[in-house]
Amino acid sequence: RAKSEGRNLYRFFEPGMDAMVQARRALEVDLGTALSRQEFDLDFQPIMNIASGEIVGAEALMRWHSPERGMVAPDSFIPVAEETGLIVPLGEWALRKACTAAARWPAGLRVAVNVSAVQLKSGSFARSVISALAFSGVPAGRLELEITETVLMDESEVVLRTLRQLRELGIRIALDDFGTGYSSLGYLRRFPVDKIKIDRSFIHDLSNRDTAAIVRTVIGLGAELGITVTAEGVETEVQLDILRSNGCTEAQGFLIGAPSKAAEIQRLLRSRAPHSQTG
Ligand code: C2E
Ligand code: MG
Ligand code: MG
Ligand code: MG
Repeated sequence: RAKSEGRNLYRFFEPGMDAMVQARRALEVDLGTALSRQEFDLDFQPIMNIASGEIVGAEALMRWHSPERGMVAPDSFIPVAEETGLIVPLGEWALRKACTAAARWPAGLRVAVNVSAVQLKSGSFARSVISALAFSGVPAGRLELEITETVLMDESEVVLRTLRQLRELGIRIALDDFGTGYSSLGYLRRFPVDKIKIDRSFIHDLSNRDTAAIVRTVIGLGAELGITVTAEGVETEVQLDILRSNGCTEAQGFLIGAPSKAAEIQRLLRSRAPHSQTG
């Protein structure tokens, strides 16, 4: 009996694994043609200065509208694009698109773009950033690049050199999803960043005493280092009140505004930006 079960399992498993590999291959193939077929788009999510209540910028978030698959979440296609290398041209496209959008926002508002480790390791990254800024006319000081700890983890010389070069140009570097990684404090010491973005899992759990203590500590750390602290995933007034009373600099989340189309964010930014002049 055990023997026949084993054989059945074996026969069941083998085609199942094939199906997984095939599904993955199909995703890679669809993704490979998606850029030239213009299936990608950027949404923008507003970021608010908590003390003033003003919108100070927005983060570009990639969207894939696949004709076959419908909307595919970045968490499912970005890792595949990283493995196939597509993230390099795709990330370049996103930088240009984001900077072009930001060129139509009120002067001084920042645009944040997510950057993957693969892009930074490609060696051509700094050039493509400089080119996106020149193409759009957006000054370097208005661009913020969001990296995660995995970028700093491998400590490759090309990555650190690139980040330093970009920072010297006046581009700001934000450490995204802070607290979910593996050794956040070490990276802060080795590589100077301009901003910490506290991961939304902490904000979601802010009613927990221990989580609240951690969040307060990170806000204090940011203050000591003289850098901006942004809370991600702010969904309720209660969360915003806690963050405000603890001196958190910025908030981002559904409470402030969900990611929305470029035209919509442009309207919002023009109405809620500091001294809303266009430029
Ligand atoms: P992220 O950079 O941490 O972006 C924040 C994510 O949280 C976004 O998910 C956003 O839609 C979501 N979010 C914002 N406010 C709230 C909230 O109040 N509650 C909840 N539950 N979620 C909220 P999204 O758009 O699905 O993006 C997921 C991740 O994909 C991003 O996380 C980023 O790591 C990656 N990603 C997105 N666009 C790009 C891109 O252009 N390049 C690269 N390399 N990665 C990207
Ligand atoms: Mg981000
Ligand atoms: Mg994040
Ligand atoms: Mg994330």
